[in-house]
Amino acid sequence: MAYHLLQRDPSGAARLAAALSQALARTRHCEKCNNYAEDPVCGLCSSPRRDPTQLCVVEAPGDLLMMEQAQCYQGLYFVLMGVLSPLDGIGPREIHLDRLIQRAADGMVREVVLATNFTVEGEATAHYIGEALRARGLKVTRIARGLPVGGELEHVDSGTLAQAVLERREA
Ligand SMILES: [Zn+2]
Repeated sequence: MAYHLLQRDPSGAARLAAALSQALARTRHCEKCNNYAEDPVCGLCSSPRRDPTQLCVVEAPGDLLMMEQAQCYQGLYFVLMGVLSPLDGIGPREIHLDRLIQRAADGMVREVVLATNFTVEGEATAHYIGEALRARGLKVTRIARGLPVGGELEHVDSGTLAQAVLERREA
């Protein structure tokens, strides 16, 4: 892309550079959800159409976007901007745990939905956050693992199938 811009589209390169530096200068973190925003509180957090009793915790802005595209959730979010990873020096402070606890204890939130990834770090982070929030009397849930929509049993990995069986519910 860099070669293409340099060779064929110098004015496009200049526009891209200006857009990036503007974004860098204007972008901050939303005071409530910690996502990238241009205002102190982002549009999603200030929307009256969202359910303030539910707070969904995700690792990254891209995860929030996926949740929104799935159109399955009407509550609010908190974006950790990372996962716990002690070997990389990422602890509770780096994932803004204090801010999350403060946010979840606003008196409106009734349920915190943990939607971190199902990786070793994501699971450890969900566990750690869950313990911290439950200790403060909050209801904490975790999104379920399962088979992909349209998936066939014979093509799914054994770990996913085993989890789907363990987390089965009444039909
Ligand atoms: Zn926000």
